[in-house]
Amino acid sequence: MVLDWHSSLWLRLAGRFDKLPHALLLAGPQGVGKSRFARALAARLLCERPGPDGFACGQCAGCRWFQGGNHPDLRLLEPGGDEAAETADEAAEGAAAKKKSDQIVIEQVRGLEKFVNLGAHRHGYKVVLIRPAEAMNLAAANSLLKMLEEPASGVLFILISNNPMRLLPTIRSRCQVLSFAKPERAAAEQWLQAAGVARPGPLLARTGGVPLAAKAMAQQGLDDQWDAFLTDLAEAAATGSLAPAGRWEIRLKQDKGGAELDKATLVGWLQKWVYDLISIKLTGLARYHPEQAERLAPIAERASAANLVDCYNELLRVRAVARHPLNPRLFLEDLLARYLKGVAPGR
Ligand SMILES: [Zn+2]
Repeated sequence: MVLDWHSSLWLRLAGRFDKLPHALLLAGPQGVGKSRFARALAARLLCERPGPDGFACGQCAGCRWFQGGNHPDLRLLEPGGDEAAETADEAAEGAAAKKKSDQIVIEQVRGLEKFVNLGAHRHGYKVVLIRPAEAMNLAAANSLLKMLEEPASGVLFILISNNPMRLLPTIRSRCQVLSFAKPERAAAEQWLQAAGVARPGPLLARTGGVPLAAKAMAQQGLDDQWDAFLTDLAEAAATGSLAPAGRWEIRLKQDKGGAELDKATLVGWLQKWVYDLISIKLTGLARYHPEQAERLAPIAERASAANLVDCYNELLRVRAVARHPLNPRLFLEDLLARYLKGVAPGR
């Protein structure tokens, strides 16, 4: 199934499953459901008994292959996927040390040549999913371009991109673009509510209107952590940053395995909070924390716009280095010190 707010997009495609173009580009912001849509489309094209609703049946041999992640007529290209080619020995030796690639490399695209030129194993489409397409480096992109210029029949390339302007224009021009926008707030809140998210409104605001990100945040319990962080900002302003910095040092260390809560996440939360202080000061409205307006207003009133803007700009720089291996305690104390300077009464 696709998300409710994509059903009209789906219906537009559903009328012409037998005459799709050779390549589709699913473009739009992260977290609006592009991958889910792409999977539903791939499943439908590989299904051998599609239902009257236009979706994959979920029962046939093709669907079972698909669900098992090993349909012979489907290829998925993602960053780091080339590591599958390593021998078991190499993997055992170097797995820990080897940095996972953040690119889709040319070997992965070349690996498709046989796949696209041979006939389908089953009896329908062959589908290649590339996500995110902007992860292809130049060599990989050029190699893909050759395939798109001389398309083999019965193959559909589905490119997924959060940043389509970062793709080669020649690749973009060979794809039919499907644009994915953020859903209307009411539709997104309704979907979150149905998914069991307790506070859909505030979470949606904090993620900038991206429902899948809001749902993931609730599932990981990060919304509660975020609230605790906001409370600790208030404590730091009232009685100093020592105790809050200590608490967050422990939380960062505890979450090593999960990797959801890291230094960059904390900087991101603080950025949004400072953004709202500036926004309240200038326009009276909060973008990310509308439910916290009463807490934001007095801080914004005392602080100077210039200090807040300086603080916001500093946080942009801090975020750029937040993934470096820095001492977490010093990092947190520095972060809170910058915030306290930012909200200090005006100069
Ligand atoms: Zn099926």
